[in-house]
Amino acid sequence: MSRIKTDIVTDIRLDSDKIIELKNNNEQFLIAKGRRKTYHILTYGCQMNEHDSEKISGMLTSIGYVETEDEKKADLVIFNTCLIRENAELKVFGKLGEVKGLKRKNPNLLVAVCGCMMQREEIREKVQKKFSFVDIIFGTNTIHELPMLIYNVEINKRKSVDIVDNTELIYEDMPKMRKFKHKALVNITYGCNNFCTYCVVPYVRGREKSRDPEDIIQEIKLLAEDGCKEVTLLGQNVNSYGNNLESEFTFAQLLYAVNEIDGIERIRFMTSHPKDLTEDLIKAIKECDKVCNHLHLPVQAGSNDVLKRMNRKYTKEHYLNLVEKLKEAVPDIAVTTDIIVGFPGETEEDFSETIEMVEKVEYDSAFTFLYSVREGTKAALMEDQVPDEVKHERFNRLLDVLYPIVLKKNQDCIGKVFPVLVETAEDDELTGRTEHFKLVHFKGSKDLIGEIVNVKVTDVKTFHMKGEIKKYGDTPLLKG
Ligand code: SF4
Repeated sequence: MSRIKTDIVTDIRLDSDKIIELKNNNEQFLIAKGRRKTYHILTYGCQMNEHDSEKISGMLTSIGYVETEDEKKADLVIFNTCLIRENAELKVFGKLGEVKGLKRKNPNLLVAVCGCMMQREEIREKVQKKFSFVDIIFGTNTIHELPMLIYNVEINKRKSVDIVDNTELIYEDMPKMRKFKHKALVNITYGCNNFCTYCVVPYVRGREKSRDPEDIIQEIKLLAEDGCKEVTLLGQNVNSYGNNLESEFTFAQLLYAVNEIDGIERIRFMTSHPKDLTEDLIKAIKECDKVCNHLHLPVQAGSNDVLKRMNRKYTKEHYLNLVEKLKEAVPDIAVTTDIIVGFPGETEEDFSETIEMVEKVEYDSAFTFLYSVREGTKAALMEDQVPDEVKHERFNRLLDVLYPIVLKKNQDCIGKVFPVLVETAEDDELTGRTEHFKLVHFKGSKDLIGEIVNVKVTDVKTFHMKGEIKKYGDTPLLKG
């Protein structure tokens, strides 16, 4: 298969002399205390961060730590931070303040901060100054160095910082501790080249790099052998997958290849940039039976002026045309989106075009955000920032239009039967998702976690549906 220009690193130094010394220390701790060292991770932000936390867990497990849900009992607390919204940033600072108290009571507690926030020098400096008890700081490109950073603190008794701004390296074979056995996140690209004017991702996660298709397919085959039924292919823009591969291999081709893997029953992916959604990809979504009938297609705004200032590189007409083609190819596809309200310069007329977009597409669901200034982005420097009260008023009006549409879409499901992948259980109430990514609660045994069962929808709300398990043959089965 193809080779990529990007260098691949498979040696993550878990067997170096220093790491072996660290592992031995952790074994000594077990003998002395009768328990293993524990870690607790606080993950903020998107699925990319969730997946990074799985890698952090894998690295820590491989050096002898075990996870604890209780941060008060942890020997190591890790903050995996997000920079997309001001809210997430403030939450991290608030929580760091709380952990300071824990550190005071237990000076042996290690505190580490990583993720997107740490890629910004000014925020790093703020953490080092205001929260000087933090022992370890690392970034999105240095997760593989975590054991070495712990070694520096524990053995060399010095605080550790390891940040790489941008990298051409892809680290394969990093150990991972998956949160769920039946579903998994799989990176297919890292970084982003799009520079939407409101977004910090290209600055903190670097330029786009695609993993070699062989590595991705091999990882998914191993996941399937381990009982995984659903994979979510992850990238800031999965649609541009393959752009830096030496031989041509597109995202559509990748979907066909993953569709062939035995044991995998559902394929999801995110995020899809509308400018790179090709006809070939729509065809692949239609033809690959395991690809879920759900597409998350962030529109962000319905006005061409705003889209231009956001540097989204598509028009509302192009977006609507894509949705039309998608619905033509896959008539029962669920379309979800992201919308930003109050982008700089957004006029009342611009906003009404966003409302029109919501009404035309009839989204199954949407993540809606108030625009918030992100330092270092072009939009932060735009002059005509929208006043907060105007943003809030528009935001509420958007929800007044969006929610009834979402509810109506759910109401259309009443009486129908959908295959649901059971994800969690609380007492005898199970929760799972349909192919359309709709959340369903129903009664059943927790042994069904990880199974795909047929559920008849009996009642719906805006954000979830209720149902009951049906056996095959009870009702005609709708492919979700
Ligand atoms: S596509 Fe735009 S919004 Fe998405 S990560 Fe890249 S720059 Fe950010």
